[in-house]
Amino acid sequence: MNKPVTPETPAANFIRNIVEADLAAGKYATRHHAGQPGLGASHANAPLDDAKIRTRFPPEPNGYLHFGHAKSICLNFGLAQQFGGRCHMRFDDTNPEKEDTEYVESIISAVRWLGFDWQDAKENNLYYASNYFAWMLQCAEYLVSAGHAYVDSQSADEMRVTRGTLTCPGRDSPYRNRSVAENQELFRRMQAGEFADGAHVLRAKIDMASPNINLRDPAIYRIRHVSHHNTGDRYCVYPMYTFAHPIEDALENVTHSICTLEFEDQRPFYDWLLERLAEGGLLLRPLPNQYEFSRLNLTYVLLSKRKLIQLVEEKHVSGWDDPRMPTLVGARRRGYAPEGFRLLMERIGVSKSDSLIDYSLLEDCMREVMNDRDERRIAVLDPVKLVITNYPQGQGERVQAPNHPQKPELGARDIPFGREVWIEREDFMEVPDKGYKRLYPGNMARLKYAYIVNCTGCEKDADGKVTTVFCEYLPDTRSGTPGADSVKVKGNLHWVSVADAHAAEVRLYDRLFKVPAPGAGDRDFLEDLNPDSCRSVTAQLEPALKDAKPGERFQFERHGYFVADSADSQPGKPVFNRAVTMKDSWGSGIRNQGTGIS
Ligand code: ATP
Ligand code: MG
Repeated sequence: MNKPVTPETPAANFIRNIVEADLAAGKYATRHHAGQPGLGASHANAPLDDAKIRTRFPPEPNGYLHFGHAKSICLNFGLAQQFGGRCHMRFDDTNPEKEDTEYVESIISAVRWLGFDWQDAKENNLYYASNYFAWMLQCAEYLVSAGHAYVDSQSADEMRVTRGTLTCPGRDSPYRNRSVAENQELFRRMQAGEFADGAHVLRAKIDMASPNINLRDPAIYRIRHVSHHNTGDRYCVYPMYTFAHPIEDALENVTHSICTLEFEDQRPFYDWLLERLAEGGLLLRPLPNQYEFSRLNLTYVLLSKRKLIQLVEEKHVSGWDDPRMPTLVGARRRGYAPEGFRLLMERIGVSKSDSLIDYSLLEDCMREVMNDRDERRIAVLDPVKLVITNYPQGQGERVQAPNHPQKPELGARDIPFGREVWIEREDFMEVPDKGYKRLYPGNMARLKYAYIVNCTGCEKDADGKVTTVFCEYLPDTRSGTPGADSVKVKGNLHWVSVADAHAAEVRLYDRLFKVPAPGAGDRDFLEDLNPDSCRSVTAQLEPALKDAKPGERFQFERHGYFVADSADSQPGKPVFNRAVTMKDSWGSGIRNQGTGIS
């Protein structure tokens, strides 16, 4: 599958190497910057740009961000951070039909959540490409005036036919040799709203025989009589994405315009366009450069907007922020750590070769971050009662548990202990399997942070299900006392005092799909949904967890990392989501189903 990337071998990032080389060569050192976007003239007399490089993250506000976007965000913002540059947050909202402002807020908060910012003491680099429409028109008008663009009046079908194919060159449009004056007049009338949608398009005049189809006179402006969420009805011509994007980069003084590989064939047009505009004096050199990297693909999830929409609309998940969704809102609700994403992106590196990253690598990164920082708490997910028959009735005591075994600075807490405690059902076996080291009649184990207990038996209901486990405790073996080590045991069990426990809903999330490549071959990806991707249990929690705030995350000892759900928790009544288990249980084939709780 993916090439093994270990923490010891820092992953390669070819774009980082390019930036380093560019900085060493002083390639961008002469750029001036007006402090805000604009055509070359506005930057020309401004001070030198104090940002060593400029990158941008340019989503279309037409959906929620997914794990793939996180790679682009970490790359663009990460390079700017590392090299004393700035990364712009730019909404690419030039397509009037597709955008929805509802997504803008969600994108902004997702990027912030990942730990990045576009605002500093000097600049606030949050932009909307639709604010650049007037400059884009100026650029288009210049191309017309310089003979680099013409109005084509062929129908869409005619244009498709005359464009040619990969093996066959295109043919010139009969309108290709219109005079500059005629093109100017027609483009003016297009803008004035005199023509219906599709009646004309403005095309760059490059080469209909180019082996690169993207250079066969690509369309740059089309007529669309629709309202735009930002500019309303001011325009009825809109730029094509491939025309708009390079100009947006140049207006913002971007140095490294980083995109995914599918735009590789567009790079010659990107360069052609910016070169023409620089020749015409509309842009200053050095011009932005486009670099392409391979997108993030992960096993067990889908990162296609279309398929994610289907999951939401057909209600296979509860919404975009369903904790099983590979969206950043979902990840946040699931309890994933933003630092875990940053670590993953650092580890997988950046290259041009297609890669499929094992989902367990993402989970490992999450665990690593969470293990380091999350406080420990105790929860019994599948409780069965344990009665300590020789512990005095009505008596109780408090024992100390550290909040983090490797971080004494995080302190410790007192947890109540008494005659009856909840233990995990799987920590008792009436007839033990070979090698079983926990409780069974005649065997001793430690109740962690408290005493060693000796199992004496159990009680069962009519169906043979164990309802109560009995044991006796060894009063001299309390943890932290000299007698603690006087008896050696192999099992170390977590527990919660019955009298003090707080019962709560805990959601055990697992992977949304049960196979590494959902929908591979001709299969419908919906057939690959994991039926066990969410299981809800009523767990018994140590009392302190009752006051967990939404979004607060803990390691539940032996179980993994859990977060108080941000949507369904009530004050004093948190619902917990399992973000990730303690160990990778997929490699060993253990999952949600089975005996205990994996
Ligand atoms: P679509 O084009 O279908 O609307 P998109 O995923 O390209 O979806 P954009 O909003 O255009 O969405 O993406 C913003 C940025 O995120 C782009 O620069 C894009 O290249 C990058 N990006 C999107 N998906 C991935 C991915 N899987 N891995 C890395 N980068 C990605
Ligand atoms: Mg896109």
